[in-house]
Amino acid sequence: MYNKALFLDRDGTLILDKHYIKDPDDVEIIPNAGDFLKTAKGLGYLLFMFTNQSGVSRGYYTFEDIALCNQKMLELLNLPEDFFTEICIAPESPTDPQIYRKPSPRFILEMIDKYDLDPKLSWMIGDHLNDLKAGINAGINCAWVSTGKPRNEDIEDYIHEHSIPIFSQLSDLVIF
Ligand SMILES: [Mg+2]
Repeated sequence: MYNKALFLDRDGTLILDKHYIKDPDDVEIIPNAGDFLKTAKGLGYLLFMFTNQSGVSRGYYTFEDIALCNQKMLELLNLPEDFFTEICIAPESPTDPQIYRKPSPRFILEMIDKYDLDPKLSWMIGDHLNDLKAGINAGINCAWVSTGKPRNEDIEDYIHEHSIPIFSQLSDLVIF
């Protein structure tokens, strides 16, 4: 029996993208995201958060700052602290050697292996081209949410090429 999962980007998908958030007081959630995540979990999806945080490598904030912001996010989403099965915070900047930073599919591939995920039933959801590429590189489905980065031509082309569905916000997803 294989499992199914959602991989969720953080900034622009679960919370507003305010560029390098360091202060938990700046965390603002996307409306209805918490209820959506609870519904997904109730339907048997394992939930993973997968976030690029180059601010660590750039020296803007630490892993501890990110943990405090994540804690605040879960509080505001009305979700328990252990809600996500696993969280991947990729600290590399685009110029560092790339390990987990999206578009690397490494985290997703590791979770597919560890939790016996069915790629056909699993999704990467985000607002950046790198989110989509990480999902496609890992062989899972992707969905775009319009609550973060604007879509430029590269993104439009990629979405078209891979037939990626677009949703106005996370809670509008109809993938189940
Ligand atoms: Mg994002």
